[in-house]
Amino acid sequence: MNLVFLGPPGAGKGTIASQAKVQYDIPHISTGDLFRNHIKHETELGKQVKAILSRGDLVPDSITIAMVKERLAEDDAKKGFILDGFPRTIIQAEALEGMTTLDAVVNFKLGREEIIKRLSGRRMCKSTGRIYHLIYDPPKKEGLDDETGEPLMQRDDDKPEAIAHRLDVYLEQTEPLIAFYKEEGLLVDIDASHSPDTVMAELVSVLK
Ligand code: AMP
Repeated sequence: MNLVFLGPPGAGKGTIASQAKVQYDIPHISTGDLFRNHIKHETELGKQVKAILSRGDLVPDSITIAMVKERLAEDDAKKGFILDGFPRTIIQAEALEGMTTLDAVVNFKLGREEIIKRLSGRRMCKSTGRIYHLIYDPPKKEGLDDETGEPLMQRDDDKPEAIAHRLDVYLEQTEPLIAFYKEEGLLVDIDASHSPDTVMAELVSVLK
């Protein structure tokens, strides 16, 4: 199954993708994770995009499209994939059409207030990549990763100024994709305001 997860930052696309990849036995390809990995390993690409991610701006289409094209050409993506965070612009969506065909585009719907609440409480362990939430999914010991005991950090782009900017970028550049994919008959809406288990159950049901 070839899927795209579309929706504003903080809608839970990554959380649901990490369950759905097991359910459907397909890789979860998050462009945000791919970029963060480059930054962590200080690759050329990582150095190029670090400041862009911190500000909450979009990485230029040409760079992002090339990275996704390479990732989709890997063996594990032949059986299907979940693209999380790509495409984010119409140009990226058109480029994706030239790479593969899609079975569905899942639109995670969530209101602005809830988005801000979710993003501002998000914390992350840098080395394991595990995501927590101060209210919804706190670590066992405050401020520390359950597994490694390392201090949790807040993504630069989850800080208040960057959150507001990312939402504006989403509305301006990414939201038009809803109409784009509706027109293609690929769009399915899901209500992302519920708990992960409920959202996952709705996903399975709409994909049947
Ligand atoms: P995410 O983890 O999906 O919220 O992505 C984090 C950041 O990575 C975004 O704010 C952008 O700076 C960058 N990024 C991720 N996916 C894309 C994309 N498809 N196009 C451009 N920039 C992206």
